[in-house]
Amino acid sequence: MKFFLYALGAMLFATCSSTQTNSTAAVVPSPPSVKANVSTDDFSNADRIGEIMNYLASDELKGRDSGSEGIEKAAQYIENHFTAYGVKPYFESYRDTLSNFKKPAYNVVGVVEGSDPKLKDEFIVIGAHYDHIGIVEMENGDAIANGANDNASGTTTVLEFARYFGTNKTNKRTLIFALFSAEEKGLLGAKHLAKKLKESNLNLYTMLNFEMTGVPLKGKDYFMYITGYDMSNLASVSNAYAKENLIGFLPTAKEFNLYQRSDNYAFHEEFEVPSHTFCTFDFTNFDHYHKVGDEPDIMDFAHMATLVNKTIPVLEGIANGATQEIKLSN
Ligand SMILES: [Zn+2]
Repeated sequence: MKFFLYALGAMLFATCSSTQTNSTAAVVPSPPSVKANVSTDDFSNADRIGEIMNYLASDELKGRDSGSEGIEKAAQYIENHFTAYGVKPYFESYRDTLSNFKKPAYNVVGVVEGSDPKLKDEFIVIGAHYDHIGIVEMENGDAIANGANDNASGTTTVLEFARYFGTNKTNKRTLIFALFSAEEKGLLGAKHLAKKLKESNLNLYTMLNFEMTGVPLKGKDYFMYITGYDMSNLASVSNAYAKENLIGFLPTAKEFNLYQRSDNYAFHEEFEVPSHTFCTFDFTNFDHYHKVGDEPDIMDFAHMATLVNKTIPVLEGIANGATQEIKLSN
């Protein structure tokens, strides 16, 4: 997420090990084994989430700075997952090369075609940015901003959704899974892709983005919030499918205008369709925003798995609804 540092009494965590030796020959690990599984309440689990998170936010990937060797490994890892899950490349390959960033940078974009002969012509983009800020100023011997919460968490969440729909294929509308690059450079990956899809006249219904889902909210009567809460009825539609108060309103998100600070916004701008970010970071439950302490070992993998399992019925409901029930507010 892009916003100015919110001053907090940040405690310094010095949990990161020293920089690993540069091993360009390192092999990108293959995905955890894939089994189709139609039950959603135990689809994801903490072990699986941990395996993905521990790679994406490892020191080996050096903070996934756009255009770097580290993010290249992340891109290959995501592609390997898509392939293993039966998610097809949306373009000629999974890679969508950014035209608005000087170094070579790629969104990774896959698709699971809808099963309904009519509804499959309506598209839903499910996204998260997979880049982070790379190497930063040294703190207690660590200079790698691992970006576990920001945004290996959202990336892992979207990979789990891709696994669910790629293996089960229960979606009537077509789902595009988009992992964006260069978010940290000014939302560039999402801007590039939204423009390109708009130019191809994509029939986009809605864009659902995931950011900073690595630690739970505390003391709230809802499980996560969406940015731009009052701009559409997405929260009430989601809660109806979730059969609980899954999505709430976070006043701070409105105060800091988070709606415009993540990858959903480009889709709002290009398509004027409901475009929101789902998040569980509320400025009080995590002190390591854009710091070297944003490490996988302080993430709550069980929370992340619960988020995936609770959100699958919401995505499935939205993908399969007879009509486009998410509507912009007047
Ligand atoms: Zn960020």
